[in-house]
Amino acid sequence: MTEYRHFIGGDWVQAGDGATYEDRNPYTGEVLATVAAGSREDARRAVEAAQAAFPAWSQTAPAERQRIFLAAADILERRSDEVVGLLASETGCCIYGFGMFQMGFVPGLLRQAAALAYSPIGQVLPSDLPGTMAMGLRRPVGVVGAIFPWNAALILSARGIAAPLALGNTVVAKPSEESPFVGGLLWAEIFAEAGLPDGVLNIVTHAPGGAAPIGEELVEHPAVRRLNFTGSTATGRKLAEAAGRNLKRVVLELGGHNPLLVLDDADLDYAVDASAFGAYLHQGQICMSARRLVVDRKVADEYLERLAAKTAGLAVGDPATPGTIIGPLITTQALETVAGRVAEAVAGGARVLAGGERVGNCYQATLVADVPPDSELARVETFGPVAMVEVVDGADEAVARANATDYGLAAGILTGDPDRGMALADRLQAGIVHVNDQPVGDEPQMPFGGVKDSGWGRFGGQAAVDEFTELKWVTVQSGTRPFPF
Ligand code: NAD
Repeated sequence: MTEYRHFIGGDWVQAGDGATYEDRNPYTGEVLATVAAGSREDARRAVEAAQAAFPAWSQTAPAERQRIFLAAADILERRSDEVVGLLASETGCCIYGFGMFQMGFVPGLLRQAAALAYSPIGQVLPSDLPGTMAMGLRRPVGVVGAIFPWNAALILSARGIAAPLALGNTVVAKPSEESPFVGGLLWAEIFAEAGLPDGVLNIVTHAPGGAAPIGEELVEHPAVRRLNFTGSTATGRKLAEAAGRNLKRVVLELGGHNPLLVLDDADLDYAVDASAFGAYLHQGQICMSARRLVVDRKVADEYLERLAAKTAGLAVGDPATPGTIIGPLITTQALETVAGRVAEAVAGGARVLAGGERVGNCYQATLVADVPPDSELARVETFGPVAMVEVVDGADEAVARANATDYGLAAGILTGDPDRGMALADRLQAGIVHVNDQPVGDEPQMPFGGVKDSGWGRFGGQAAVDEFTELKWVTVQSGTRPFPF
């Protein structure tokens, strides 16, 4: 049986009290490994290791940081078949879909981070005091706490670790209990092989239900100067409240209830393919998944007929089998939530146009119309392969419907007229809008993040420099200056 331990100060260590839990395959239920079930005390040890490693790492030449990141990208690519397999077995990710997508994305993210080592460029500032040289210097902040979800385990763990490290910070990372290896400990192996010094990256795992004490330590320990959190809005809100009490800055990348607008001039063949991809990739377990298909009445009948046929044809089953589009949901509880919300909507008058059934640990790709506005499906993010249709009269109503949510992560607008799309993009309350594309997409250099209850702060490119460095005003007097007394 494989055993995964914490990675603290360069050592693979058991939980302080020796506790473990079982990491399971969400499709087969098979136990993949036993994992260290960490406690607050383990998190404290990890913070202390990161704190001790910070002075040397923050002074390491950018060329050396860059070398390590380029080496890490090569090592990941060398291990790509193994990693894609692990994404399927640990997180239920279809190998020939979201698994390969993640594997294609992350080497680029690491190489982008390699360039970040040279990005904290300062400023020389005009001063009104004669003989004063004034500068704005960008310096690493110290220890960064990083908390990830399981759903895009490889991308999101890499994203939470890479920019902070490349910018000269040290990191304590906490993966999800559902993806301790491929969304966490894998990076300890890869970066250790790439030559990252001991203590610069530390990873603490925990059993289901054990996240809160580790989160509390990261928020409250004075050495942790910044946090980044990717996960649900409910958890992010709790973390932000605690971070506020401790006056800590935190990047929050939270849930979405993302609209895809299908306007009356959209190409319907393209709209059907884009909608199915946006709604059902990775069983709809993506923060950017298209959950609300807002379609103009003039094209609604034809669009829905074609989309329902496509949805009904998406193969459900083993994520490791070629041709599977819909694999398992991550846990039985997630399956119950999805099935329960569809049932509640149907009891309130919703119509199921395709899908709507469980298949083992999977839930069919599902298309629903006439969802009651007060149902949970209509109001909150439902992390599964369920898309709801809203039929509207014209673009103004489409924008109003799209914005009628507490969330604001990603959106798409399908129209035959890109200028019309640009004008509407300006009116959508979302951190990310794609014209003539569906909402799911990312590139490492883009400013990724949401508005409203989808969070604040941005990963990606220059945005990450702002998040994970401190801007420091430093002056030097060339001589003496006069004082009034
Ligand atoms: P989650 O909020 O349940 O868990 C996310 C992480 O928070 C996990 O590591 C979990 O162990 C940890 N956690 C749970 N309780 C905690 C606590 N009290 N203190 C500290 N940490 C705690 O979310 P999930 O189910 O793992 O992931 C799915 C959610 O993440 C969805 O809402 C999805 O939209 C969102 N998400 C957002 C983005 C984005 O970039 N905006 C990306 C992916 C996923």
